[in-house]
Amino acid sequence: MTGEPSPERGRVAFLGLGTMGAAMAANLARAGFAVTGWNRTPGRAPELADLGIAMADTPAAAVADAEIAVICVSDTPDVEAVLFGPDGIVDGARAGTLIVDCSTIAPSGSWDFAKRLADRDLSMVDAPVSGGSEGAKNATLTIFVGGEASDVERARRVLTAMGRTITHVGPIGAGQAVKAVNQVILAGTYLGVAEGMVLAIKAGLDVNQVVEALGGGAAQSWVLANRSGRMIDNDYPLGFKVSLHRKDLGIALDLAAQLGAVLPVSALAAQLETGLIATSHGDDDMSALARAIRSLSALDS
Ligand code: NAP
Repeated sequence: MTGEPSPERGRVAFLGLGTMGAAMAANLARAGFAVTGWNRTPGRAPELADLGIAMADTPAAAVADAEIAVICVSDTPDVEAVLFGPDGIVDGARAGTLIVDCSTIAPSGSWDFAKRLADRDLSMVDAPVSGGSEGAKNATLTIFVGGEASDVERARRVLTAMGRTITHVGPIGAGQAVKAVNQVILAGTYLGVAEGMVLAIKAGLDVNQVVEALGGGAAQSWVLANRSGRMIDNDYPLGFKVSLHRKDLGIALDLAAQLGAVLPVSALAAQLETGLIATSHGDDDMSALARAIRSLSALDS
């Protein structure tokens, strides 16, 4: 579907066309928004041209005519660079433009950026997403939104074109705090499924049958349904990079340290992911946590 841009939908800029951003920008175009894209490395996501998405050379140029600018880049300093770096969003945006940051970053980054943007008559909501690359492609993302109610309402029509469950969870930064909780829970779930798969293999069970049987009981999860196959095959196509989840656990562990929360399972997952990154597996899908458990269990030489 290549939906024609509709004038009343308005112009949206999309900054950061990686695994997630490219799929999300495509869904905005399909929903009828006129989309201008920008990516730091030119030439990424060439398929977006077929959907009528024009490419700008700089963030400033991308946002020049936009009512809403969506960002989806890797980490806190990367969002700062897109907003305030050379030819950044603040150099091109009209007063009143709403920034919707879908990157997963530190809540303290969102607070800081929102304050600095307000000084320039620009507003921002944090809107980190969950649901994986499949969710981004199928426009079924779960989105946790932090910010002023009026800004969240303005962002909603863009968010509903990219996701299915959109929840306003509190003031600016609250979306990122919820996302940190999400990533902590995922750390435990991926590790648990990896351990279960390794035990099933070691026990000589029919692992695919095990996955099917467990799917009807209390051990069912998105990870079991969607990522156990990779763990069984020991092959980890993207997905969600190990290095990005390690970044997210850094955010969660920092927040926990500030608040006096103890997260032993997340700390263990972070250590295993640091090891995966050190052994050149940082670009594998996060289900590669199973690589570590398999290796410790002498499943792979
Ligand atoms: P990705 O495929 O690695 O893409 C990262 C994007 O960020 C690329 O467009 C990259 O540009 C851009 N970027 C990085 N540093 C930059 C900088 N300093 N200035 C400008 N652009 C910069 O990552 P992704 O999987 O799409 O993830 C994007 C965000 O979504 C991350 O915060 C991630 O944690 C979050 N997320 C991902 C998933 C998932 O399943 N993948 C799920 C939920 C949330 P280049 O092309 O130039 O490198």
